[in-house]
Amino acid sequence: MLTSGQINLVWLKRDLRLRDHEALFNASKSGMPVLLIYIIEPILVDDPHYDIRHWRFICQSLQDMNQQLSQFNSQLLIVHGEVTSVFEQLNNTLPIKHIYSHQEIGLANTFERDKAVKRWCDTNAVIWSESTYGAVIRGLTQRHDWDKNWQKRMRHPCFDRPLEKINFVQSEHLVFQQQNTELPEQWQTPNPQFQAGGEKRAWFTMHHFFTDRGKDYAYSISSPTASRKACSRLSPYLAWGNISLRQVYQFTLGNWQKKGWRRSLVAFTSRLHWHCHFVQKFESEIEMQVRPVNRAYENYQYDESDRGKANVEAWKQGQTGFPLIDACMRCLHQTGYLNFRMRSMLVSFLCHQLDADWRSGVTHLARLFLDFEPGIHYPQFHMQAGITGINLIRLYNPIKQSQEKDPEGVFIRRWCPELAELPNELLHQPWQLTLMEQQMYDIKLGSDYPLPIIDFEISAKAARDKLWAFQKRDDVQAEGRRILKRHTLPNRPKNI
Ligand SMILES: Cc1cc2nc3c(=O)[nH]c(=O)nc-3n(C[C@H](O)[C@H](O)[C@H](O)COP(=O)(O)OP(=O)(O)OC[C@H]3O[C@@H](n4cnc5c(N)ncnc54)[C@H](O)[C@@H]3O)c2cc1C
Repeated sequence: MLTSGQINLVWLKRDLRLRDHEALFNASKSGMPVLLIYIIEPILVDDPHYDIRHWRFICQSLQDMNQQLSQFNSQLLIVHGEVTSVFEQLNNTLPIKHIYSHQEIGLANTFERDKAVKRWCDTNAVIWSESTYGAVIRGLTQRHDWDKNWQKRMRHPCFDRPLEKINFVQSEHLVFQQQNTELPEQWQTPNPQFQAGGEKRAWFTMHHFFTDRGKDYAYSISSPTASRKACSRLSPYLAWGNISLRQVYQFTLGNWQKKGWRRSLVAFTSRLHWHCHFVQKFESEIEMQVRPVNRAYENYQYDESDRGKANVEAWKQGQTGFPLIDACMRCLHQTGYLNFRMRSMLVSFLCHQLDADWRSGVTHLARLFLDFEPGIHYPQFHMQAGITGINLIRLYNPIKQSQEKDPEGVFIRRWCPELAELPNELLHQPWQLTLMEQQMYDIKLGSDYPLPIIDFEISAKAARDKLWAFQKRDDVQAEGRRILKRHTLPNRPKNI
């Protein structure tokens, strides 16, 4: 029931859940009516980092929340529009006292939007309180005590209030003009190749990981096939906030004593830690979205030729002639998921072997990753592209990776079916097929499957020479020292 003229508004962004939700917890404290709103923002719908796969996942998450809220005769307000004008219209119908949300460590356009929201709140005497994202600290200038803070945040009791005790605005009071925008049909059509969104799915995935899949986590993480089962697959749920890092961390602690799981759980927990560590980096250096974190790399010369551009297109389409690279890219197009090692290899191939500017691939992969999280994506991309000046430059050899991580070719055969008939010894380097072998295996190189777009040995050597010479420059080193001071944790290896 609306007990007074005003409401508390919970503005949902990348926190699409009802449990361990600090903003909802705080909004419901006073007993005032609480309305949850999700705004479909044109700045994000049109943003090149976003793809229908993300909107489908968001849609599924919202439907899951609505299903839960229906037990309390409530529902989310889902509105299409620019945030301040949505707030303005809403405020005219249901006066807003207080807006609660989580801090968004997002793209530059959401940062600008947040500034506009702050101005709107100040003008309209609406209070806006933001809860922290994981253990990320806004405006941090150094990392002393960062670890301690991470532990404190993760071990803090979850922000849960029984849903039946929350005074949700009842559905019949939602008389807002644009109330509950119809979600586009396409967003509502599930694609079974992708993980489905929602709080229930997130918990199911986590339980499944801890009861069965996760035991071999530490040993299977680098294989493109085994990782699909043995990794937690929690990334989209964490990225869109169907589950919180704290919930996952506390659940992990609850499973700590499982026999035979120790190594996997230690490896898994460090990754939960890395999650915040990378987002913190991005928070402190948001310009990473447009320029190299090590600014000296502004002067690095990439291949800008037409041939170079065509190579990038081939990389994007999974048509490079390198089977593991192509299988990874095609798999991403179809499923939105790839393990860490293969993601790193794709970036290394683009930026080192193809000598392409990191900016030519960063939004492409963001669009393909179902778990796109700006705060992880950008710092990881910079690191793998070798433009930090402080990390070891990783030049992955796609042939060696292929032979080691997919020795039987299970992954390659699945995503490059035109190579399926080749025996293992030819599968990893199909350009070695003789004409007679091409006839024998009924494949024509150059038409059924591309010839390699580069000579790997030559470009790997060129990349090594160029990258290492550049890394020694004084301006790169000076910038490196600045980055180390700001972003690394005391007593930690500098490559994480
Ligand atoms: C170029 C590049 C871009 C990336 N972009 C993203 C992204 O947009 N979103 C994203 O969630 N991850 C990103 N990663 C990190 C990593 O590859 C994924 O988090 C991981 O593969 C997700 O699978 P999982 O949930 O099964 O992970 P698990 O191995 O089960 O790990 C559990 C969780 O820990 C966190 N995590 C794991 N590895 C890392 C890592 N290396 N750095 C930071 N956090 C980590 C994630 O939240 C993950 O869900 C990127 C990696 C690279 C190399």
